[in-house]
Amino acid sequence: MVKAILIHETGGPEVLRLGDVTVDKPGEGQVRLRQTAAGVNFVDTYSRSGLYPAPLPLIPGREGVGIVSELGPGVTSLKVGDRVCYGNGPIGGYTEERLIPAASLVKIPPGLKDEQVAGMMLRGLTVWYLVRAMHVLKPSETVLFHAAAGGVGLIFCQWARAIGATVIGTVSTEEKAKQARDAGCTHVINYRTEKNWVTQVRDLSNGGVSVVYDGVGKDVFMDSLDCLKPRGLMCTFGNASGPAPALEPVVLNNKGSLFLTRPKLGDYVSERADYETACAELFDLVGKGKIKIDVGQSYALEQAAHAHADLESRRTTGSTILVI
Ligand code: NDP
Repeated sequence: MVKAILIHETGGPEVLRLGDVTVDKPGEGQVRLRQTAAGVNFVDTYSRSGLYPAPLPLIPGREGVGIVSELGPGVTSLKVGDRVCYGNGPIGGYTEERLIPAASLVKIPPGLKDEQVAGMMLRGLTVWYLVRAMHVLKPSETVLFHAAAGGVGLIFCQWARAIGATVIGTVSTEEKAKQARDAGCTHVINYRTEKNWVTQVRDLSNGGVSVVYDGVGKDVFMDSLDCLKPRGLMCTFGNASGPAPALEPVVLNNKGSLFLTRPKLGDYVSERADYETACAELFDLVGKGKIKIDVGQSYALEQAAHAHADLESRRTTGSTILVI
C-alpha cells in the first residue's frame, strides 16, 4: 500500500483526504513510478469541486516527477532508475507511487531539480501552446495576460519576454505586481483597485491588444473583449473566478470581427511528437535561464487540502507543488 490523496465526493478542499491505495503490477506499455514531487494546478480544483466531472473515487493531479521503479511488458523507451516527469496527465498525481503509460513520460535533463520540474510541466506546456501553437506570438505584439503572477502567468511573462513581445499583466496585489514585473511584464495593472483597467489596457496598447489570455474567466471575460483591437484573439483558457458566460456569435462581430478560442492543453500535446517538441522547448528555455521556475509554495502530500485552499483564495504566487 502507498499513501495518496483521494476524493470520494466532490466539494471544498476538505474532501481531499489522505488514504492508502494499492499499486498493481504495470500493464502493457505502463511503468511504475516512485514520485518525489507533484504539481498542484488550478485545474485540480475543478476536478475536486466537480466543475470538470470525473468518476469517483479519484486521485487528483496531472503532473509529477519521480523514478521509474518497474517496467510493464512492451516498454522499451525507459529503464528502471530513469528520472522522469509528466505534465499532461493522466490524472492521479497526488500519490507516493502510481502506474502511468510510458508514453506520458519524458526524461528530465540533468541540472533541473525535482521541485522545479514539478512546478513547470503542466504550466510550462500550457504556455508553450499559448505562445507557440495556438498562436505564434511575435516580438511586435502587445498582449494582455490576466493573473500574471500566477503559476502559468509567471512562466508566460518570461516566455513572452524571451520572444520580445510586450505584455500587459493584471494582478490583485502590489506584491504580485512586483513579481509580474520582475518576470518581464512590461505594464502591470491591479484589476482589483483600478476600476478602469479596460481603458488603461487600450491606452497602453494604442487602441487594443492582439491577444487576451484569460485564465480568470467570469469576472473579466466580457470586459476583456473590449481590450482587443479589431480581428484580435480572445483566448479563454481557465475559470479561476468561475466559467466565462455564454456568448452570441454576433457580439464578436460587433466588437471588431474578433476570434474566440477555448483551448485545452490535451488537444495540443496529444501527439507524442508535439509533446516532445513542447517539452524540449521548455527544457531549453529553463536550461538557458531565460525562464526561472518560481515555486512559490511547497506542501507535504497530506497538506493537499491546505494547498487547494491557498490557491483558491488567491494567496499563492508562481507554482504550487506537493513534495512527497
Ligand atoms: P494561478 O496560480 O494563476 O492561480 C489563479 C489566479 O487567478 C489567482 O492567483 C488569482 O490571481 C486569479 N484569480 C482571479 N480571480 C480569482 C478568484 N475569484 N478566485 C481565485 N483566483 C482568482 O493558477 P494556475 O497557474 O494553476 O492556472 C491559471 C489558469 O490557467 C487557471 O484558470 C487554470 O484553470 C488555467 N489553465 C488552463 C489550461 C488549459 O489548457 N486550458 C492548462 C493550465 C491552466 P490574482 O490574485 O492576481 O487575481
